[in-house]
Amino acid sequence: MAAQETVLQIDLNALAHNYNYLRSLLKTETKLLAVVKAFGYGSDSVEIAKFLETLGVDYFAVAYTNEGVALRNAGIETPILVLHPQAVNFKTIIDRCLEPSLYSARILNRFIDAAAQQNQKNYPVHIKFNTGLNRLGFWENDVDYIIDRLKKAPELQVKSVFSHLAASEDENEQEFTLGQITSFKKIANEIAEKLGYQPMMHQLNSSGLLNYPDAQFDMVRCGIALYGYGNDPKYTGKLKPVASLRSVISQIHMIEPGETVGYNRAYVSKGYEKTATIPIGHADGISRSFGNERGFVMINKKKAPIIGNVCMDMIMVNITNIDCREGDEVVLFDENYTAEDMAPLANTISYELLTAVSQRVKRTFLR
Ligand SMILES: *Cc1c(COP(=O)(O)O)cnc(C)c1O
Repeated sequence: MAAQETVLQIDLNALAHNYNYLRSLLKTETKLLAVVKAFGYGSDSVEIAKFLETLGVDYFAVAYTNEGVALRNAGIETPILVLHPQAVNFKTIIDRCLEPSLYSARILNRFIDAAAQQNQKNYPVHIKFNTGLNRLGFWENDVDYIIDRLKKAPELQVKSVFSHLAASEDENEQEFTLGQITSFKKIANEIAEKLGYQPMMHQLNSSGLLNYPDAQFDMVRCGIALYGYGNDPKYTGKLKPVASLRSVISQIHMIEPGETVGYNRAYVSKGYEKTATIPIGHADGISRSFGNERGFVMINKKKAPIIGNVCMDMIMVNITNIDCREGDEVVLFDENYTAEDMAPLANTISYELLTAVSQRVKRTFLR
């Protein structure tokens, strides 16, 4: 059905396809964690999580505590890893059965205190190691300190040890990535040996799984690939984009040579031209960087360049050579002209374009 207003259409059949494809790359015993941070990569974390739960997903991850709380409020019962918690939220984390990533001595100690205060025993936590991304995580030489703290803290149980790759999508960085994998294996094995029990191990994101399937260990953490993007045409071809951003033509104008369009009169017409005004702007996630003919939309399968500056609530596009009428559907991105095609026009990547789609845009679901 054609859009009649600006909508982000979420195709759950495509999500199932991607889920099954990723599962097919895993050994039967490897768990699949679905990353549903940032509103499920800009879609809808609750609907995505509910649907993935019906497919049998093993784990979820979010970045922040409030994202995990939203899932619990919606009735999600699958374990939820919080990748980047802050100590101020530790009570909430425990109250809502969320599982924190502990990434530094400060965070480990604060969580031990919080768990003791709430009389916890064997509370599931995940220990994060930095193996080269230099973003979050303990260093390899922190292992003895961590073990010493954990041995004195019956409040905690290490459910997993994990790390994150810096350049899993980049073939030129293979040597660096293999080094990260080797270093992670060494750390995780040392932890298990010194703890006296075996936590799960995981290191791969989507491109990690696609490019280094041998390093899947006990679990993989897939985000972007579940939403249909493989960061590489050879994988994206196997996946189906889940979200499509659609709108409509609100109004058509016929303009004369030399007239200008939009704020700051940034576009000047070269002749008798036809423009369409579309109800989507930078407040909806279409960055101003797409303005001034860097980006385009699709109308009746033809490219209509965005002219002038992107407004907060609207864009204007050139439809001089397109046969179309007010009320016709406009595609910002879909399964043919994808977010991976559109993003580079504004010097960005699918991740940023998808997660930028603001909460003002209505979500609809295909299932
Ligand atoms: C976001 C994130 C992921 C998912 O990455 P994709 O490239 O989207 O698959 C996995 N692990 C961590 C730690 C993350 O922050």
